Amino acid sequence: MKLHEYQAKDLLKKYGVAVPKNAGIATSPEQVRIAVESLGGRGVIKAQVHSGGRGKAGGIKVANSPQEAETIAAQILGMLLKTHQVPEGITVEQVLIEEPITIAKEYYLSIVPDRSSQRNVFILSEKGGMDIEAVAEEDPDAIVHLSVDPLVGINDFELREAIVAAKLDPAFANKIVLFMKQLYQCYMEADGALAEINPLAITSDGRVLAADAKFQIDDSALFRHKEFEAAAQESFDNPIEAEAHRQDIAYVGLGGDIGLMCNGAGLTMSTIDEVKRAGGNPANFLDVGGGAQAERVSKCLALILSDPNVKGVLINIFGGITWCDEVAKGVIAGTETLNVTVPIVVRLAGTRAAEGAELIAKTNLIPATTMQEAAAKIVSLVG
Ligand code: GDP
Ligand code: MN
Repeated sequence: MKLHEYQAKDLLKKYGVAVPKNAGIATSPEQVRIAVESLGGRGVIKAQVHSGGRGKAGGIKVANSPQEAETIAAQILGMLLKTHQVPEGITVEQVLIEEPITIAKEYYLSIVPDRSSQRNVFILSEKGGMDIEAVAEEDPDAIVHLSVDPLVGINDFELREAIVAAKLDPAFANKIVLFMKQLYQCYMEADGALAEINPLAITSDGRVLAADAKFQIDDSALFRHKEFEAAAQESFDNPIEAEAHRQDIAYVGLGGDIGLMCNGAGLTMSTIDEVKRAGGNPANFLDVGGGAQAERVSKCLALILSDPNVKGVLINIFGGITWCDEVAKGVIAGTETLNVTVPIVVRLAGTRAAEGAELIAKTNLIPATTMQEAAAKIVSLVG
């Protein structure tokens, strides 16, 4: 889950990480004017959208008076911000208002999980403020990595070595070490999946500040962070995924036209592969979970069918603790209340499969015995 810059900075502040002073977020030009007045008459107005490259796209501007702030806010609020990351654009609904800072140097600092080493890694570069991907391409030596042993944690000397290797100004080494330690603690405790400070600014008055902050929380850890619940709700780009999250259903949109309902992540992924192999395009990943009751199965079916692209549904269940007849009851109840017009292929195997098949036989649901047969059937029906 992505946090907005203002949410990320609020979180960082709790861990002592230095961020510019701000006057909160605003959704109207009047609010922006008042916010800039409260900051003493000057302010930076920053579009809060989930994308990098906002500066280049015109989503970040400095106002030298409250009146100018109001004019700038009127331009930024409601604009369709087209960045290199999101070329189709995102409408700006809120802006962050911050104290203007005079940046002497812009560095790059991030923490990301590195799958190959199974560790979190600091990435550090003197070439901040710009796209790190571009730096990686043009000047890979300007990027320094420091992987953190999770059992040992971080040592100051390692941070210093990284700061020297990255050619950051040694005069600020102490402040940057402190910044990195606080950032790391924040990242670990919030179950971060990304913490990116770009730029890490050295101001002309000698402060080390997170001028920008991108922060992502590991979705699988959200259950232990109720404080992010509101942010999680609005962070979904896909409305069906947002609804699935509300209903506690493991759903990922995949963009195709064959809706899938399976149990267990492994069987669900195998089913996706089978549908692909049969020439079809899965609309979603959906794991109903173990021991699913009829009511939950109905709810999952409703969720799948709320996707207007779905032209057919494949239900592939292996009954272990899940009873196949419970699943059949749920599917039948769902089709009765939902007025279903698309074909539904059902393959049930395992616990009480025969009882399930008996129920399916009395309906116009289409039975299949193997996963391959089920995939071939739904693909040919959808066409
Ligand atoms: P991004 O373009 O989405 O990555 O947004 P950033 O917050 O990183 O802003 C882009 C650029 O705007 C930064 O690299 C800075 O150069 C500049 N910037 C942002 N805030 C300030 C500020 O308060 N003062 C000054 N002088 N420049 C700023
Ligand atoms: Mn940035």
